[in-house]
Amino acid sequence: MYQRPSGTNDILPADQPYWRYITSRLHHLAALYGYDEIETPLFEDTEVFTRGVGETTDIVEKEMYTIRERPDESLTLRPEFTAGVMRAYLENGMHVLPSPVRLYSIGAIFRRERPQAGRYRQFHQFNAEALGEQDPAVDLEIMSIAYDLYAGLGFTGLSFQLNSTGCPICRPTYLEILKPYFRQHLDQLGDDDRRRLERNPLRILDSKHPAAQTIIEAAPRIVDYLCAECKDHFARLRRYLEVLGRPYTLNHRLVRGLDYYTKTVFEVWAQGIGAQNAMCGGGRYDGLIEVLGGKPTPGVGFAAGLERTILLMKEQHLPVPALPGPQVFLAYLGESAKQRGIELLGDLRRAGIRVTATFGDRSMKAQMRSADKSAAGYAIILGDVELERGVAVVRNLRDKGQQEIPFAELIAHLQGLLAAA
Ligand code: AMP
Repeated sequence: MYQRPSGTNDILPADQPYWRYITSRLHHLAALYGYDEIETPLFEDTEVFTRGVGETTDIVEKEMYTIRERPDESLTLRPEFTAGVMRAYLENGMHVLPSPVRLYSIGAIFRRERPQAGRYRQFHQFNAEALGEQDPAVDLEIMSIAYDLYAGLGFTGLSFQLNSTGCPICRPTYLEILKPYFRQHLDQLGDDDRRRLERNPLRILDSKHPAAQTIIEAAPRIVDYLCAECKDHFARLRRYLEVLGRPYTLNHRLVRGLDYYTKTVFEVWAQGIGAQNAMCGGGRYDGLIEVLGGKPTPGVGFAAGLERTILLMKEQHLPVPALPGPQVFLAYLGESAKQRGIELLGDLRRAGIRVTATFGDRSMKAQMRSADKSAAGYAIILGDVELERGVAVVRNLRDKGQQEIPFAELIAHLQGLLAAA
């Protein structure tokens, strides 16, 4: 028997209530904040990601699914939203719109990762971006969307992890202090971290290598080296968070490690959730659009993983509304009743009543068994005798009470029952 590729999931009917609920909340939330939806292709020119995500990131170094169409054309399944959304923003002239331009997307993301619990090769993200404005009030807005998303789903004990990673003016000074610091402690770094030391030293700060934890905790902190502009931006963001009463913890190990990621970096954590498996992450990337060929344009955004959100909702027993199942089940005996039933199914659906049947000409007992297992509250039973008399039997599948109703009154009768239920 074939199996799904490792790191992928079948989203079965039993899980659909979570997906439907979360996506409907996301659309609602985006509308509350004035964000417009944008859908970009599942794949882009590989260069959009090598430049837009960054050559030295894990994603570009080892996690992209790349297809070579022709010797001169390389396409990559999107390993994140931001770079493709920026490409679309520039290509479609959205940079002339009044700023900030506020965009969101929901969809599949592909990364060739080592699959494990909560870490997949195909997963889904909600992504929001605000482009064209550097005001920390916009950082706050993006952070608030993330916070409201999880609060609205029922998570409690929410707080932000927060850091500023400076900008191309102040970060080099910091790196000149960080690199020698880590060089002094080479023996405590893992192989990956040693490799990062020259290429991307900031990333050592979020290393999980056990032996490196003590020296990372004690490492110089970037917030102590921010330039006046970054310092002011960070101070104002913190003030706005306080105005809103949103709790945050400064976390100097929260980094992105790429030149065009600037200033704010954040994650949302909840009671007992976050340190191991982030629910969402985001920050400011004032240098990104320029890297992709646009005029210098500030931007800030975040991405939330939907599979991880659902896993955590299940762990925390957070409720989701059921999806609408059939309201009525049609059962019949004999060919004439079946034909009348087929007609009736159409009438009921046109009247907006959700109705189903087993077909296959089974015994009445078998049909009633299916009816009882379905979500339907009522069955319509049709046989030759009823047909001759111009009536149908309406059976209450809960209390098993039943009643004969003339065909002409059937739909109005069912509508009355369903409205009262
Ligand atoms: P990132 O784009 O890496 O900042 O990730 C944003 C969010 O996407 C994370 O906080 C996770 O919730 C989710 N995520 C990232 N990678 C994966 C993955 N491989 N499988 C499932 N969810 C993921």
